[in-house]
Amino acid sequence: MSLYRSVGYRVPMSQPTPEVYEQGKGMDAHNKVMREIRSRKEASYDPHEPTRVWLDEDNTPDGVKESLTIILNTGGCRWARAGGCTMCGYVAESVDGGSVSHEALLDQIDVCLEHEEENADEPAGLIKIYTSGSFLDEREVGAETRRAIADTFADRDRIVVESLPDFVDREKIADFTQQGLDTDVAIGLETATDRVRHDCVNKYFDFADFEDACAEAAAADDEAGSDADAGIKAYLLMKPPFLTESEAAADMISSIERCADVEGCHTVSMNPCNVQRYTMVDDLYFNDGYRPPWLWSVAHVLEETADVDAIVVSDPVGHGSDRGPHNCGECDDLVQKAIKDFDLRQDPSVFEQVSCECEATWDVVIERERSFNQPLTQ
Ligand code: SF4
Ligand SMILES: [Zn+2]
Repeated sequence: MSLYRSVGYRVPMSQPTPEVYEQGKGMDAHNKVMREIRSRKEASYDPHEPTRVWLDEDNTPDGVKESLTIILNTGGCRWARAGGCTMCGYVAESVDGGSVSHEALLDQIDVCLEHEEENADEPAGLIKIYTSGSFLDEREVGAETRRAIADTFADRDRIVVESLPDFVDREKIADFTQQGLDTDVAIGLETATDRVRHDCVNKYFDFADFEDACAEAAAADDEAGSDADAGIKAYLLMKPPFLTESEAAADMISSIERCADVEGCHTVSMNPCNVQRYTMVDDLYFNDGYRPPWLWSVAHVLEETADVDAIVVSDPVGHGSDRGPHNCGECDDLVQKAIKDFDLRQDPSVFEQVSCECEATWDVVIERERSFNQPLTQ
C-alpha cells in the first residue's frame, strides 16, 4: 500500500483539481517514483547499433505490406529522464549521455539495411522508425539526419515515424512527402481520456495536442505537392495501472471511437499493456496489484469498434505469459491468432470461431472487479 501513498494516488471518484499537480503530488510524485525505479537499472549501449530491427507485415491504408521496423537508439526519451510513463521500460535501453551523432544514427540505419538484405527477398514497402522517444524531436534526431533518412528510403512506398505530438509539424512531415513517401506519424496517445493519460499513464499532454498534431498532418497532406499522403497513426494502451478490466475495455472503446473521428487519424493501434522491468507497473505486479489485460478484452474491444472509420489493429506483445496479456493458458495462442487475422482483414467474425471455458471467468471479472479488489484473478 505504501506505493499508493507515495504516488499521491486519489480515489477514482474525486474530481481533478489544479492542486494535484503541485510539488509532491500527482504528476510530480509519479515522476519521483519512476526516477527511483528506473535508477535501479544501469546499462549502456553502443550508439552505432540500433536497439532492435525486424521484418514483418502490416495493414496500411493501401493494403497489407511487408515492413521493416527499426528501433533507433537516439539517447532516449526526455520525458523518461524526468520520470516518464508508468508502464514504459524503454529508457533502460538508451545510450548514456543523452544524444547520438548524425554519423552514428546513419550507421544504425546501415545495420538495419544489412539485416533486411540478408533476411528479405526484396526491400520492404513499409518502413517504420521508432526511437523510444520522438523521431521528430530535433534534439534526438537533427534535421540533417532526418532528411538523410528520408533520402535513404525514398524508393519505398510508405514510412511511419514515431513522435510525441508536440514535435509534429507540417514542414518536418514534408521532408518525407517531398520524396514521394506516404508518411504517417505514430503518436503514443495511450488513451483519449485526459484523466487516465495523466493519472494512470503519467503522460503529460492532452487529447487537444493530439488533435493539433492530426491537423498538422492533414495540412501537410494538403500541401504535399506530390501524390504522397500524410496521416496519423494513434497508439493506445489497453489497461494502464489502476483501472479495472471493465474500465480499461470501456476506455479503449471510447478512445478508438474518438480517435477515428479526428480528421487525419486513419489508423489506431490498440496495444495491451505488458509488464516491463523497472517500471511502476512492474512494482505493482510484483505486489499482486496489477494483472495485464485478458486477450478476451482485446477481442471484445476490436469487435465493438469494428465499424469505426479507421483501421484498428492490435499487437499483443508477450501474449500468453504472466507478464503479458493472457487468458487461461489453453486458448491464448488461438485468440492471438484471431487478433492477428483481424488486423489484416478487419473482419470481426474471426472472433466467433474461438471459444474457451475461461470466457466465463472473464465475464465474472468484467462484471465484479472493482478498483478496490483488483486484480480479481491472475
Ligand atoms: S512511453 Fe514514450 S513518452 Fe513515455 S517514457 Fe516511454 S518513450 Fe517516453
Ligand atoms: Zn481459455
